[in-house]
Amino acid sequence: MNLYEMPSRGCDARGCGHYGAPRGGRIHRGIDLTCESKTPVGAPVGGVVTKVGWPYIGNFDIRYIQVTCEDYRYRVFYVSPTVTVGDTVEIGDVIGTAQSLKHLYPGITDHVHLEVKDPDGAFVDPTPLLQVMRSLYC
Ligand SMILES: [Zn+2]
Repeated sequence: MNLYEMPSRGCDARGCGHYGAPRGGRIHRGIDLTCESKTPVGAPVGGVVTKVGWPYIGNFDIRYIQVTCEDYRYRVFYVSPTVTVGDTVEIGDVIGTAQSLKHLYPGITDHVHLEVKDPDGAFVDPTPLLQVMRSLYC
């Protein structure tokens, strides 16, 4: 499933999914897109898989995948990877399957998290990108 086909998370018992939402003392630097766990997840952009990582220290189950395009880094969190570093992907190619977060955060809506960093390493709000993609592909 392509990210632009997934509905935005909105808010649930554990917080809100929009860019800039409060996260305790921090700020949410990505956007959350809802999907059932085990849903095949498409690459957010065409590019090269440059990292397959672990977002949570000490938790080896929850994963993220980073795809780099034009020195912009797109990370999709909560995805069990089916790609490895060095793979080339087109937009929408399956990069893994969505993971459930309900055992970590009871009451949360299962989702994937997309965050984007520019070539200088600064976070970029991916919301306008998703809006353009939705308008192009609907
Ligand atoms: Zn998120």
